[in-house]
Amino acid sequence: MSNPRILILGAPGAGKGTQSRRLVEEFGVEHVTTGDALRANKGMDISHLDLEYDTPGEYMDAGELVPDEVVNEIVKTALEEADGFVLDGYPRNESQTEYLDSITDLDVVLYLDVDDDELVRRLTGRRVCEDCGATFHVDFDPPEEEGVCDECGGDLYQREDDTEETARERINVYEENTAPVVEYFRDEGVLEEIDGEQTPDEVWADVKAAVEANAN
Ligand code: ADP
Ligand code: ADP
Ligand code: ZN
Repeated sequence: MSNPRILILGAPGAGKGTQSRRLVEEFGVEHVTTGDALRANKGMDISHLDLEYDTPGEYMDAGELVPDEVVNEIVKTALEEADGFVLDGYPRNESQTEYLDSITDLDVVLYLDVDDDELVRRLTGRRVCEDCGATFHVDFDPPEEEGVCDECGGDLYQREDDTEETARERINVYEENTAPVVEYFRDEGVLEEIDGEQTPDEVWADVKAAVEANAN
């Protein structure tokens, strides 16, 4: 029996990263996240593609999508190497959805549903561990000691794109480009819709049940 192939959808701040960490622990899958992969390659030279900007970081700091050519390649390599995965942050538009369909089969498609105002509160209060990537929130999930990771003792930082202005821009980009991706999977009849405004533990109970029902 192989590990499940899970896709997790939701707007920026919906809780995808938080739930993905639990999926990794529970089901032994790999966390494939385009956001983290791109942050690790913010300065990569993509000038040969002759697009608007010459590095992924410039798109990210503006809250815009990094070009498909760059992201598709990252995902293809990561999925080929993974024995079961939770894919987080991809696909974000129709063309990425078609590409994903051509390279893999999914067992479960989860969708975390969260309201816009709640998304902004979550994004602007988010803090991330620079060593292990664990995510906290200054009000909703504060670490025991301010600025220090509970899991590994690393320093917590605020992402450059988690300002209110860029958060709102990312939510707009999401509505325009990524909401149709959710519709696509809903029309296919495979979308597991989860109320993402519950507590993290309650969301996790629903996420775990949906994966167990679909992956066998
Ligand atoms: P969040 O978890 O808050 O949704 P991410 O870490 O997933 O944010 O993404 C941060 C930024 O990385 C995005 O605003 C975008 O610029 C870029 N990015 C991530 N995934 C993709 C993708 N699939 N396609 C294009 N750009 C992406
Ligand atoms: P995404 O990966 O979808 O952008 P994250 O998992 O990074 O979202 O969560 C965004 C912020 O919201 C983080 O600060 C996280 O601690 C917090 N958060 C996650 N899930 C919940 C929840 N169910 N209720 C309240 N805050 C949450
Ligand atoms: Zn840490």
